[in-house]
Amino acid sequence: MLTTEERLLNLLVANPAAVAVAIVAIMLCGGGAPKPKKSYDDKVAALVASGAAKGFASVSKATTGNQFQYHRAKGQPAKKQGGRVDLSAFNNVVTIDTQAKLVQVEGLATMETVVNALDGKGFRIPIVPELKHITVGGAIAGIGIESGSFRWGWFHQAMVECDLLTPGGEILRCSASNEHKDVFHALPNSYGTLGYVLRATLRLVPSKPYVAVATTIHTSFKQAMAAMERGEETSEFVEGLWWAPDKVSVTLTNYVDAVPQGASLQRFDGLAIYYKAAGNAGTMYLTSADYYFRWDADWFWNIPTDCGGWLVRLVTPRKLRTSSTYKWLRSLRVVKAWHRLETLWKSQGQPFVQDWAVPWSKADEFVREATKTRPHRPNVPYMLLPVGAAQNKATHYPCAKEGRYLNLGTYTEIDVPFADALAETRRIDDLCVRKHGGIKMLYSSSFLDLETFSGIYGSLAAATRKKVDPEGSRPSVFEKTAHPSVLGCEELVLGY
Ligand SMILES: Cc1cc2nc3c(=O)[nH]c(=O)nc-3n(C[C@H](O)[C@H](O)[C@H](O)COP(=O)(O)OP(=O)(O)OC[C@H]3O[C@@H](n4cnc5c(N)ncnc54)[C@H](O)[C@@H]3O)c2cc1C
Repeated sequence: MLTTEERLLNLLVANPAAVAVAIVAIMLCGGGAPKPKKSYDDKVAALVASGAAKGFASVSKATTGNQFQYHRAKGQPAKKQGGRVDLSAFNNVVTIDTQAKLVQVEGLATMETVVNALDGKGFRIPIVPELKHITVGGAIAGIGIESGSFRWGWFHQAMVECDLLTPGGEILRCSASNEHKDVFHALPNSYGTLGYVLRATLRLVPSKPYVAVATTIHTSFKQAMAAMERGEETSEFVEGLWWAPDKVSVTLTNYVDAVPQGASLQRFDGLAIYYKAAGNAGTMYLTSADYYFRWDADWFWNIPTDCGGWLVRLVTPRKLRTSSTYKWLRSLRVVKAWHRLETLWKSQGQPFVQDWAVPWSKADEFVREATKTRPHRPNVPYMLLPVGAAQNKATHYPCAKEGRYLNLGTYTEIDVPFADALAETRRIDDLCVRKHGGIKMLYSSSFLDLETFSGIYGSLAAATRKKVDPEGSRPSVFEKTAHPSVLGCEELVLGY
């Protein structure tokens, strides 16, 4: 009888190439017995013992971020004081309690991790932001929405408790009713300035394994608004796409137990493109998980439909067809160099990535005015989402003018000179916040001056700031999110 070592030796002699491939695969995938996962409490203990938590200035995480801002302009003083704390291990689901309808999730867990953990359990978190690698903490601190928002509001409305690592190095357990309720309500739209969420407890709502996605086409935005309002009565998810003044699609989605006979399941991480499908009337069936992440494989509509784009769709393994892969590709020096070279014969594409929300009664006028100049690339839509804001209690993301808001989103590049792209964003910012009393998300470039900014989002109470950041080492949200030109930098940096 041969020993294992002898068998391996024979195999190596007989087929060295196969063994080499196997060794590389084991190295890549991690060989040996799986390491037991550390509990949340153990991770917290290790973090505290490391001493790195006190006064940290930045965070290491395992995922690429989804903020979309221009680089710091030259001349802007660096603000960072303090060290770096590694929170990348805080990326798991801790407990799922289907009786209490609650899930405890670590702050750096991604939406994909949360959806996978809940798969087959008959529940989802109310709002699943559609990019797989948005994290729970990022969605709380950076505001999250999707097609369930007409019923469940913004992502943070599902949060019932959280543990926050403050810049001062303390871990505060915050809820809407305990002594840290000021911090709890100040967290949405705080962009890391109050510290980092290590763990959050979120509400669960019922789900089923499949969805039926039904699209209708409307000849005006007003008609589409009426269809969305009607759809709220009968649907689990509601969203729209604005293509042109006389073409707006509305998609109403509902859970189903099974795919009807004769219908097939669709996926959008191969050659099919979701936004094109949602621009045609009809019904399609997806698994619920594929529905939640329907926008991820094409990063909304950012993967071109030219030869290069089709090649990407053809050859990239499904698992890698994610917005994170594209972000990584874009960060490569060779890709950046190519984009710089391209400017010799065409203007550099400028990001036009924004989310604006206005009270529902202002939506028709706002959308008409905002889309008027339409610098978009041809045949890409704007996103339309009704958001029920009545239960929103966020101190620094107030949307109390009406019970329902309309969120208009654009996630694309436009082929106009840099200055024109900025001017277009500013024009729509003004329409949204000054003319229609709306609010904009700050994950993307913001051009609001300090006075306007404070009028909309308020200022952090001195007592709350003192509690989380006694040394005053953190920048304010305004300083963190305002465009460099607003902060008084003379030189703007092209691109993002
Ligand atoms: C192209 C594009 C499309 C988007 N689409 C959607 C969408 O469909 N739905 C949606 O809801 N949102 C969307 N967003 C917005 C996105 O949810 C926010 O930008 C979110 O903050 C990103 O979270 P992240 O986990 O990637 O965090 P990062 O981008 O790494 O960080 C975002 C901010 O949150 C802070 N932060 C991160 N983690 C934590 C934490 N644990 N605790 C406290 N603060 C933290 C960071 O300091 C930073 O200021 C989109 C953004 C882009 C650029």
